Amino acid sequence: MRAILPDNLIKLAELCRPLYLVGGSVRDFLCGYPLPENADWDICSPLPEEKILAAAKRCGFSARSVYKNTGTVKLTDKEGRGYEFTRFRSDKYVRGVHTPAEIIFTDDMETDAKRRDFTANAVYYDIAEGALRDPLGGIADIKKKILRTVAPADKVFGEDGLRLMRLARFAAQLGFTPDGEALCGAKKHCALIDDIAPERVFAELKLILSSDEKHDLKEAPYRGLSVLNKTGVLAHILPELAMGDGMRQRPDFHDHDVLEHSLRCCAYAPEEIRFAALLHDVGKPFCMARDGNFYAHAEEGERMAREILSRLKAPAKLISETARLVRLHMRDLDGKMKKNKVRREMIENYDLLERLLTLKQADYTACKDDFSPAPAVVKWRAILADMKREGVPMRLSELAVNGAELQKAGVKPERTGQALKELLFHCAENGARNNKTYLLRRAAKLYTEEET
Ligand code: ATP
Ligand code: MG
Repeated sequence: MRAILPDNLIKLAELCRPLYLVGGSVRDFLCGYPLPENADWDICSPLPEEKILAAAKRCGFSARSVYKNTGTVKLTDKEGRGYEFTRFRSDKYVRGVHTPAEIIFTDDMETDAKRRDFTANAVYYDIAEGALRDPLGGIADIKKKILRTVAPADKVFGEDGLRLMRLARFAAQLGFTPDGEALCGAKKHCALIDDIAPERVFAELKLILSSDEKHDLKEAPYRGLSVLNKTGVLAHILPELAMGDGMRQRPDFHDHDVLEHSLRCCAYAPEEIRFAALLHDVGKPFCMARDGNFYAHAEEGERMAREILSRLKAPAKLISETARLVRLHMRDLDGKMKKNKVRREMIENYDLLERLLTLKQADYTACKDDFSPAPAVVKWRAILADMKREGVPMRLSELAVNGAELQKAGVKPERTGQALKELLFHCAENGARNNKTYLLRRAAKLYTEEET
């Protein structure tokens, strides 16, 4: 392990004995996963944080922040790598609240280990000695790929609701399985997730949805979402989605209920559209409860996706793109949409077109786990290829005229936007129309004559 450690960390450990690595870097190393370039190094010691801080400065680290109450120091080295030092401690919690109410510093490693979450995250590596210390049997659990809590699961999950998300996230990223006790404890305390700040819940959910990137485990997001569902956490953070559990769908189209279909759609989708994939049918349970059918679920879904992601304080761009994709996912599902309408739809949503087509494919695949090309996607791609061949402008920047030229031809400034959009749609049907003279003549006819 020493061979992969940054030199200045080894230097610091020579000055401050004992200094241990703990958490993700030790766990991932023992799993055989390569450490990413931007790995964060969690370090700890019974020594007080001032001592570490002074020595770290001598070794060329700079301090980003110091939290005296928790004995935590965040450091950065000259190469920009991040380190988080925490002094050995035990924490006392007010039920479920992520931040401890009382902190007691200790010299005892086992006490420090027992304030952590899972045994796999409580293996220590003595940097100067080059030796592992394993107070709670974490190494055996890592070998067995098990997530076991550091203390009775009832206590661990009852203390800090964020651990509910961490359980699902580590299961996903590492390909580990929570043991029976961890699942029971998480289930018992699943309501504590309601006390965690939505930004934190969103950050963890995002990590779960992109968990395959961490160690390249293909089925990771599905595994994480399944843990959220099994523990009942999903019903708290995404109750609208969890309502689809057991909701049957037409067997000629679907092998799975609404929730399982959504989880699979998310698993089959690429990372950039996973929120849309997860939420694409979120309108179904709502429509079923309201009307007894799934009609207009895409439109309701759009509204609900916006509501859900706003509640989770997701970034505005993600909210608007996800909501639009949810609304659009049903377009031309039966393949009956007229070609010219498809052309207009593609131009209208060109900024999202690739993502929409991948969502449609993932949705199709998730119906019956059928990986063949979705007929609607095949049709739309063929139409798109025709449009490209014809030179159809797909966005305003590709149109043969611009706003200034239209205004020179007599179109009023306040009507220029509308005129450009109309010309773009007009060209959708026939790429040959994307000709400056022709378009200026059309604009002059439609947007100047009627006003004189
Ligand atoms: P990652 O690879 O994502 O960094 P990590 O296990 O290192 O995973 P961190 O969030 O960096 O996770 O935290 C470092 C260590 O601190 C954890 O391994 C765990 O021992 C402890 N820890 C962090 N958050 C919690 C928590 N909410 N409850 C208990 N222990 C925690
Ligand atoms: Mg870490």
